[in-house]
Amino acid sequence: MGSSVITEERGETKEQQPIKEKENLNLFESTQVIIKEALDKLGYSPEMYELLKEPVRLLTVRIPVRMDDGSVKIFTGYRSQHNDAVGPTKGGVRFHPDVTEDEVKALSIWMSLKSGIVDLPYGGGKGGIICDPREMSFRELEALSRGYVRAISQIVGPTKDIPAPDVFTNSQVMSWMMDEYSRIREFDSPGFITGKPIVLGGSHGRDSATAKGVTICIREALKKRNIPLKGARVVVQGFGNAGSYLSKFLHDAGAKVVGISDAYGALHDPDGLDIDYLLDRRDSFGTVTKLFKNTITNKELLELDCDILVPAAIENQITEDNAHNIKASIVVEAANGPTTLKATKILTERGILLVPDILASSGGVTVSYFEWVQNNQGYYWTEEEVEQRLEQVIVKGFNNVYDTAVNRKVNMRLAAYMIGIRKMAEASRFRGWV
Ligand code: GLU
Repeated sequence: MGSSVITEERGETKEQQPIKEKENLNLFESTQVIIKEALDKLGYSPEMYELLKEPVRLLTVRIPVRMDDGSVKIFTGYRSQHNDAVGPTKGGVRFHPDVTEDEVKALSIWMSLKSGIVDLPYGGGKGGIICDPREMSFRELEALSRGYVRAISQIVGPTKDIPAPDVFTNSQVMSWMMDEYSRIREFDSPGFITGKPIVLGGSHGRDSATAKGVTICIREALKKRNIPLKGARVVVQGFGNAGSYLSKFLHDAGAKVVGISDAYGALHDPDGLDIDYLLDRRDSFGTVTKLFKNTITNKELLELDCDILVPAAIENQITEDNAHNIKASIVVEAANGPTTLKATKILTERGILLVPDILASSGGVTVSYFEWVQNNQGYYWTEEEVEQRLEQVIVKGFNNVYDTAVNRKVNMRLAAYMIGIRKMAEASRFRGWV
């Protein structure tokens, strides 16, 4: 297992030290560390870092919702817009009890980077509401979705900031949001949001786009390591939108999915799991392991013997505590932020090929871009057209990041940051901002 994509030690420059010396950086802080590193490598001034290290706009909103029992509950939500030098900001809205302001800020920066890597004309945005949709009724979720759009309507729009699905939001939530926005503006506004159902101007292939993008990255990464996809042993953490479609695609392509998990536990079968059966039994939040007696923990899942590990759930799953025990030779991050900075360093030193989140999960926003283009044109593409274009975009993005990593002797995460930030920095410079 030879690795050529490696070796740069983090943090030679003085400027980086104040941030780096702090222990246990959160997602937002670690993002800033890598942005600094990427901008330094590209030769940008400290002013450029000052501009790009924080979102340009962050709105916090309080949303009152009449609950089914007659009480009123006030929910807190956010919308963060990182940088709009390249174009309107774009990114999903997540509904989750653990949403925090710093997380939404970090996620909006990552959206800028994703768009930069696959060369979309967007900056990054992200929204989140602190709530647990698993415990809310359909009616309560509709009220929350509409209330959120009313609260943020001034700063979003088809040419300003375009939301989309993310953790625990789906095409139904997008439909309510689009309807609310169209009512406020008093004209039909399909381009306000992406991830809509086809009948409301959604695009073919949007539902499975993130998983398609990850599958393409896995295929390209396997080529670099001369491992055939057929028979390759894969572990997928998470059985939500990305994890479930991905397991299916890999299974259908002849790979052996030997482990999957949800928030409650994990399943393992060294001979390959029956993915079609599991897909049939999962609920809309991706829960399936509750139906089984012989489960393993998520911790055990990550350390299973396999060729490819795909964290497709939540943040901070591979840390300095378990990075030494990972047995996969390729890790492809389908989730946002599943590997900490320290774990990235450990995996890199161990020669494991790590395909970073901002590249691997860019299929979703890529097809969102296609959806927005179709909405703007009022002309709709076939499934084959969407697939072909997605394939082209992701293969190009992957090779660009891989080649940069090899040529600049850095890991793929830093290479992805360098590519992701360059266009934004250039656009900011041309606009005369820095
Ligand atoms: N939420 C997805 C992501 O994190 C998709 C965003 C979009 O489609 O705009 O990439």
